[in-house]
Amino acid sequence: MSETVLEIHLPKLRHNYQFLRKRLANSTKLLAVVKAFGYGSDSVAVAKCLAACGVDYFGVAYVQEGVALRNAGITQPILVMHPQQHNLEVLITHKLEPAIYSQRILDAFLTTLKATETTHYPIHLKFNTGLNRLGFQPNHTNQLLDLLNQNKNLLQLKGVYSHLAASDDLDEESFTQAQLDHFEAIVQKIKPSHPDTIFHALNTSGVLNYAAAQYDMVRTGISLYGYGNDSAVDTQLKPVLTLKTVISQLHSLQKGDSLGYNRAFVATDSMQTATLPLGHADGIGRIYGNGKGYVWIHGQKAPIVGNVCMDMIMVDVTNIACNEGDAVIVIGDNESAEALANHAGTISYEFITGLSQRIPRKLIL
Ligand SMILES: *Cc1c(COP(=O)(O)O)cnc(C)c1O
Repeated sequence: MSETVLEIHLPKLRHNYQFLRKRLANSTKLLAVVKAFGYGSDSVAVAKCLAACGVDYFGVAYVQEGVALRNAGITQPILVMHPQQHNLEVLITHKLEPAIYSQRILDAFLTTLKATETTHYPIHLKFNTGLNRLGFQPNHTNQLLDLLNQNKNLLQLKGVYSHLAASDDLDEESFTQAQLDHFEAIVQKIKPSHPDTIFHALNTSGVLNYAAAQYDMVRTGISLYGYGNDSAVDTQLKPVLTLKTVISQLHSLQKGDSLGYNRAFVATDSMQTATLPLGHADGIGRIYGNGKGYVWIHGQKAPIVGNVCMDMIMVDVTNIACNEGDAVIVIGDNESAEALANHAGTISYEFITGLSQRIPRKLIL
């Protein structure tokens, strides 16, 4: 039995889902983003739980992530936000809905539809309104409408969307508003001829900060997992993931003793350290070493000392009464992944999606 475990608390996931639902109009659909193994949790477990709650849609980044959901019996529509040319046929076989973001992917998709004799296939058009990552330019809209018209029998315009660059940063409010204005102009052009198309623009922070732009659907990820990019919202969300481990061994160091690889830490006084069975191969990056990261033992903060090893970290427990075998919490209810990540100069998203597949997942029903 491994002594490190990642608990996935489904009652907390349901709570976060309900929290978001209450912030939306009754008619607004909710797409749950479950890419990257459900933000490092378990995409199938999360999707099954949310499907039972009545979620409308799922979103993944890549085709294989959608295939995993279909293979697990998920029947809701699934948007693939970054399909690639080589797996369009697999996408079609698994009834996944592609984001069409460029002329190249549109041409490839039309070719694949013809080759597989598929008709009226649901797609979402992705527009670039300022993130400059994926998407058609807004001035392409009329041309795309013509193309859709010419390919009516092949394509069904199920959705049209864009993605905000800085919805979590209110200092960038005017930039975000400009993105939303570009999107609104696209909606005005497309909606008259496509009244049933689902328009969607908001991610988690979009829902929290720009709810007026919820259109027909929102795409929420991080908030479902319990983080809202906002300390006031965080008090109302429940972190779904708890990462637990145990103390493998205690060591007493004397002044001048070094600890860990490359002797990155040297004791300035006598002290006690605890060795824990998780390291950078589990997702505790080296960025968390040398005092940047910490864990919790008996409710007290124990900083990581020295370099993070592949399979282990060492923490300072000089002022914590503890024994080998005692429980350690890395992230949990009151041990925020957001705070830990921020302390090391990164964000909750990176910490939780980086938790590797080596850590056993345990569902808490
Ligand atoms: C990942 C992603 C989301 C979800 O964002 P959160 O901030 O986690 O809510 C929504 N839309 C797109 C296009 C994404 O890539």
